[in-house]
Amino acid sequence: MSQPDGQSNTLDNLLTESRTFPPSQEFSAQANATSALYTEAAADREAFWAKQAERLDWDTKWDQVLDWSDAPFAKWFVGGRLNVAYNCVDRHVQAGHGDRVAIHWEGEPGDSQTITYAQLQREVCRTANALAALGVGAGDRVAIYLPMLPEAVYSMLACARLGALHSVVFGGFSAEALRTRINDAAAKVVITCDGQYRRGKAMPLKANVDEAVAQTPSVEHVIVVKRTNTDVAFDHTRDKWWDEARAGQPDTHTPQAFDSEHPLFILYTSGTTGKPKGILHTSGGYLTQAAYTHHTVFDLKPDSDTYWCTADIGWVTGHTYIVYGPLANGATQVIYEGTPNTPHEGRHWEIVQKYGVTIYYTAPTTIRTFMKWGPQIPAHYDLSSLRLLGSVGEPINPEAWIWYRHNIGGDRTPVVDTWWQTETGSIMISPLPGITPTKPGSAQQPLPGISAKIVDETGTPVGHGNGGLLVLDEPWPAMLRGIWGDQQRYRDTYWSKFADLGFYFAGDGAKYDDDGDIWLLGRVDDVMNISGHRISTTEVESALVSHPNVAEAAVVGASDPTTGQGIVAFVILRGGTDDTASGQTALKQLREHVSHEIGPIAKPRQIMVVPELPKTRSGKIMRRLLRDVAENREIGDVTTLADSSVMDLISKGLSKTT
Ligand code: ATP
Ligand code: MG
Repeated sequence: MSQPDGQSNTLDNLLTESRTFPPSQEFSAQANATSALYTEAAADREAFWAKQAERLDWDTKWDQVLDWSDAPFAKWFVGGRLNVAYNCVDRHVQAGHGDRVAIHWEGEPGDSQTITYAQLQREVCRTANALAALGVGAGDRVAIYLPMLPEAVYSMLACARLGALHSVVFGGFSAEALRTRINDAAAKVVITCDGQYRRGKAMPLKANVDEAVAQTPSVEHVIVVKRTNTDVAFDHTRDKWWDEARAGQPDTHTPQAFDSEHPLFILYTSGTTGKPKGILHTSGGYLTQAAYTHHTVFDLKPDSDTYWCTADIGWVTGHTYIVYGPLANGATQVIYEGTPNTPHEGRHWEIVQKYGVTIYYTAPTTIRTFMKWGPQIPAHYDLSSLRLLGSVGEPINPEAWIWYRHNIGGDRTPVVDTWWQTETGSIMISPLPGITPTKPGSAQQPLPGISAKIVDETGTPVGHGNGGLLVLDEPWPAMLRGIWGDQQRYRDTYWSKFADLGFYFAGDGAKYDDDGDIWLLGRVDDVMNISGHRISTTEVESALVSHPNVAEAAVVGASDPTTGQGIVAFVILRGGTDDTASGQTALKQLREHVSHEIGPIAKPRQIMVVPELPKTRSGKIMRRLLRDVAENREIGDVTTLADSSVMDLISKGLSKTT
């Protein structure tokens, strides 16, 4: 990161938050997590992870827990062999749980399916046989371009069963994004569907595939699931309907064991900051940490819980906390196809009520959207089944955390703020429910078995009460094994900043509070420099969101002739606030509010009320585009933006007020 003012690269610590929520005795008494986990892991990390790996069924046991001799390329559970799909499906059936529901699937138009573990086993086997018949084998790549359908899960697990790598491409991405991802991985087969439901409408999907595969020489077959009965063009030598490809294929299949380091999948990162990277994950270590974290952080009780993670399968959260973690643990879960406001803004709560969801995991962007819609919406539903809430994807503003716990969790449920990345494969930093007294807005502590530090530019840990760069200073089982096809980029991107110290640099800023708990402060690329003070976007945004009129806020540093940078804020108002809230007097009060909450240095130079914020399709705010607006530049690359018209709306609004 550049240092224009030559100051040290620590972050100013502005926002203070003193509310804490100790776990209830009732929750603690039944919690999966114990404080002994911390002591065990601290005493012998490798022995700790070896014990966690016992959660899985291994065909051949490993003879070495970790081989780090070729750092930064790790090998975990060396010599071990297992089949990932067997671990997620068959073993539960063999243990007598074939009748347990694996998936309650809820379609956007209101259709639904209940899939037991025995059915899941048959579907996965049939799909694996169909793929094998098309020539897919171990090491081949399969692109999966599907919305949230059960077939997406069957396809991922069928690949895992065969030792083929899946590369799931989010169904909202364009033909161009699909094409570059197919070509980067040289995928042999693409699995897609005719169309997908989006906000009540059937949108074509196969047409994007046709456009993409016109320029993907590696693709031999396209398999097409029928979902919307949309007319599609069909190339009969290349394309096959899902039913046709699986017709006559047996619903049994003998899984083969693969090496613990056998590649499992490639997943391209969201592209919040630039060109997506093909993150490579492997089998034994990944599944171990996925199962361990899902058990411990979500307190999963497979016999009694109904778990729901609202992420899309196209993001890492969908991989680890819809497919691999929950299924490895034999969970019963909900998968929902559509958007939260189709056909009405209470859809999520209707689903929670219908299935008696006990554990709910979503993103801050969704929570802030619920805040914008207002608390009267969830209040219509019976949410008393919920016993644990989770958050992932961005720093959660303390006020959004409190709103979530109060309006969704009935002031009863623990809230776990989970920090991790596509690259880390599984949760790394999070409170443990039943153990950790939680603090709104803080991810708090590295999980037992994980080591993370906040350091300054030289790699020296900062003290309590100070901010800096978040690093991971010990390898972990679910860590990425590289960037597909570009191992130099892997070294350069993650390991070059602190090469001598061997730290993985995560790209995020963070601070310790006085108790040593970790608060994520957003990406270091977004850090603002105001008169020599390094200020995190997160803290100013959280101060704005703590005002009763504000549902969501994004701030950026725009170049300023006197202060270096000035803070420009973009805010979305909460539902029910009247027009005066966007008037000049109200905005002045809002600037004063920030000044009062965190200090005059953080007072925004300008506040804009906007109807929407630019977000990636996984819901993260793209601040670099707002910086372009604030500095009157041409808007940069918008290809990973969920809705590119948002930028026009914002630019127009800005030219009106300045
Ligand atoms: P790219 O790396 O391509 O720019 P991305 O970083 O948005 O995309 P992901 O791997 O999906 O892709 O997101 C990981 C990032 O999300 C983290 O580095 C962090 O910035 C943010 N993040 C995730 N969870 C949390 C959390 N609980 N608190 C704060 N930030 C979080
Ligand atoms: Mg990233």
